Amino acid sequence: MATEKIPVMGDGLPAALREMLGPEIEVLEWDDSPGSPALAKAVGIVTYGHPHVDGSLMDRVPNLRVISNHGVGVDHINIEAARSRTIPVGNTPGCLDASTADMTMALLLATARNVVVGDHFARSAEFTHYDPSQLIGYEVSGSTLGIVGLGRIGKQVARRAKAFDMPVLYYNRRRDEAAERELGVTYVAFDDLLRQSDFVSLNCPLTIETTNLIGTREFSLMKPTGILLNMARGPVVDHDALYAALHSRRIAAAGLDVTAPEPLPRQHPLLGLSNLVITPHLGSASNRTRHRMIQMTVENLRAGLTGQALPWSV
Ligand code: NAP
Repeated sequence: MATEKIPVMGDGLPAALREMLGPEIEVLEWDDSPGSPALAKAVGIVTYGHPHVDGSLMDRVPNLRVISNHGVGVDHINIEAARSRTIPVGNTPGCLDASTADMTMALLLATARNVVVGDHFARSAEFTHYDPSQLIGYEVSGSTLGIVGLGRIGKQVARRAKAFDMPVLYYNRRRDEAAERELGVTYVAFDDLLRQSDFVSLNCPLTIETTNLIGTREFSLMKPTGILLNMARGPVVDHDALYAALHSRRIAAAGLDVTAPEPLPRQHPLLGLSNLVITPHLGSASNRTRHRMIQMTVENLRAGLTGQALPWSV
């Protein structure tokens, strides 16, 4: 007798994830429209690529047992709504710390040392001879890095910065003395971090508190040679204020892995600036990390479907 498959709704799940789910799972294509048959049928949800899941969507999935998120950030899921409905939410913390920290350093180096502008120049007809006065960047070694959000990823950024002989400042809501001892980082007030840092790296989650955390006031506190790096989430930075700060050279440059909206409209003025380096949300996009994220997503899903505690629960 054929056993019934377990219906799970997912958004554009890649082949590797589908394969790991196995034949007993039926993947229903994402459909959150009113009266959606997928919502009526699903017992699990996999959020891949950050689709929004709020309380009203949860209410339209009467048999929902688990939400399994591919990724650590869960700002696109209403966690309180899930909690009040006793729906467990899983995510993939830890496995992406190194790759996301690597990418933070990639943006730091690219913005400071003209990697992207230099690449374009080196391919252009204008590059006729080596001129030592061209494209002089900012020294990374010995410059001060300020990390906003010294959590799992932020700590890995700090480790890498130490290898570049960078003094590291950090700001969290709570001071982390164990991290200070282990990593040799210094806790400072938020405004002092902005004033003293050559690079400001955003590695905090997106919450109500961190929405527009960096705006006109914050740019006015940064050094004119300062560089902003956003590896967190787009809405942590006020993009109009960022454009004004970059265009007027109130700050020197910015590196963005995330934007609001994502992607930016193709005509967005930020995309016309040469002192901006932008990547399409590549923080955790490395081969081994992606593989582990998929494993963790599937393990959380399976646990939730069978009523067990999730191995990695929000
Ligand atoms: P985590 O371990 O929870 O660390 C977050 C840190 O942010 C904590 O140290 C926390 O300290 C601090 N924080 C929270 N609210 C803050 C606030 N209002 N002001 C200042 N600091 C605050 O998280 P994680 O695993 O490192 O991930 C961090 C975020 O990175 C994720 O939520 C996600 O949005 C983003 N991310 C992006 C990519 C990418 O591809 N670009 C990849 C992975 C993750 P306190 O609680 O003491 O404030």
